[in-house]
Amino acid sequence: MNPLIGIDLGTTYSCLAGMIEGAAKVIPNLEGAATTPSMVCLASTGETLVGNLAMRQSLTNPERTLFAIKRLIGQKFGSARVQEARRHLPYALVEAANGDVQVKVGERRITPQEVSALILGYLKKSAEAYYGTAVREAVVTVPAHFDDNQRQATKDAALIAGLDVLRVINEPTAASLAYGLHRKRAGKVAVFDMGGGTFDITLLEISEGVFHVLATAGDSYLGGEDFDRRLVDWLLTEFKRETREDLSGDKYALQRIKEAAEKAKRELSFTQESEINLPFIASASVGSRHLRRTLTRPLLEELTRDLVEKAFPLVEGALAEAGLRPGEIEDIILVGGQTRMPLLRRQVADFFGRAPNDHLNPDEGVALGAAIQAGILSGEMSEIVLLLDVTSLSLGIEIEQDGFERIIEKNATLPVRKTKPFTTVEDGQRRVRIHVLQGESGKASENTSLGMFDLVGISAASAGIPQIDVTFEIDVNGMVRVSARDTVSGREQKMVVEPSSGLSRSQKNEIMKQASAEGAKNG
Ligand code: AMP
Repeated sequence: MNPLIGIDLGTTYSCLAGMIEGAAKVIPNLEGAATTPSMVCLASTGETLVGNLAMRQSLTNPERTLFAIKRLIGQKFGSARVQEARRHLPYALVEAANGDVQVKVGERRITPQEVSALILGYLKKSAEAYYGTAVREAVVTVPAHFDDNQRQATKDAALIAGLDVLRVINEPTAASLAYGLHRKRAGKVAVFDMGGGTFDITLLEISEGVFHVLATAGDSYLGGEDFDRRLVDWLLTEFKRETREDLSGDKYALQRIKEAAEKAKRELSFTQESEINLPFIASASVGSRHLRRTLTRPLLEELTRDLVEKAFPLVEGALAEAGLRPGEIEDIILVGGQTRMPLLRRQVADFFGRAPNDHLNPDEGVALGAAIQAGILSGEMSEIVLLLDVTSLSLGIEIEQDGFERIIEKNATLPVRKTKPFTTVEDGQRRVRIHVLQGESGKASENTSLGMFDLVGISAASAGIPQIDVTFEIDVNGMVRVSARDTVSGREQKMVVEPSSGLSRSQKNEIMKQASAEGAKNG
């Protein structure tokens, strides 16, 4: 049997794990490291570098080194968040014909799905080298609050990489599996997950073998990258104040500053002071300029305190939805590299009235949980585990005057299905259009559009007579399905689906054909 792997596809780092001799273990990448930078370099020579190799040359090749691609996957180019991201990224973003965001490198346009596929492909190869056999199936994790477009796009990325995704699992839920598998005592726990790009809070009740998610909330634009940017902005301002030179347009200098800022931020989780030293950051007519600064932990905390604080209203919201008070949470599990920051740990401890649990490695817990889920699916796990996850976003349809009618409420346990009857409003009407959306706003236009579903071929009848039952379903992967049935004839009602984003079947086939041709060319 081919091994089934678990993959944590992170914004900044990714991690791979598998079931080895009955236990979940991290599988090293081709270079022997436990985590792989989620970076891809598309060199002008046509060569593609992934992971550490891409990271090592990012300073000299910022326009061709793609990072934080997870912030773009399944997103529209015109969205406020993509436009904001665009201001800071050294590589170019463009709009696809369906409004999705794409990356432009030289003359080549590439979708976030294809970039993620290169990272997943590297991890697949690493697993194959480790096991010495082909690997075709995986469990892949996503942030709990990823919508259907983002989940579908992640699944497509895996498909392009030659991986069949047997299950998509929420990152915090995966971490709770790694934490709670051998826990005997029943209790309520919180998973506080802040990685490179996203923040999730998930509240669970764990009793022997049963993982019941009570509520989840999050922000896909709150993570380590935002902390780094604050430091970059501070360094740019300081440099300008001192030299009157503005480095914000210099991509090479920016890349060096960003790297140094991230390194200093990490160091300050363990020390009180960190030196930033970037010689020859700019060459002015009067002589070369260097950037030297000492960053202290209190200053870092001052510059980023509001980012840490931004997480807590979401935690409060999740607690309210679960009907819990902070004191009722017995254990807090920290996941994601950014949770190493002492300020964040202090605030978490203050909020819940207890120190967070330190047992799970924040970089590896999610991948280990994905491997456990893989073990459950492949039957390699001897323990009986029941995982009851929830949907993080409400699902509904557009109604008159830009209204949004909820059909499945957020935090409903998965899988969930709801049926709603539809009819016609005009005599002889043969077609009904349903616009399906995800989100929490009362306004349709403020939620994420998943697609237009046209019920077609309705038998001609007077207004209000036909009855078509439309079933909205969210499966265990958190993915949405819509189907319709004519209640008079009992027949499956025909639907024409116009997805709002993502790759069409023919685009996927074309990309996969190209990828396999390139693979053959590169040996
Ligand atoms: P992840 O995607 O979970 O690997 O999280 C990566 C993020 O965690 C990046 O933004 C890192 O800069 C950040 N990070 C890693 N180690 C530390 C640390 N020691 N202190 C603060 N942030 C860290």
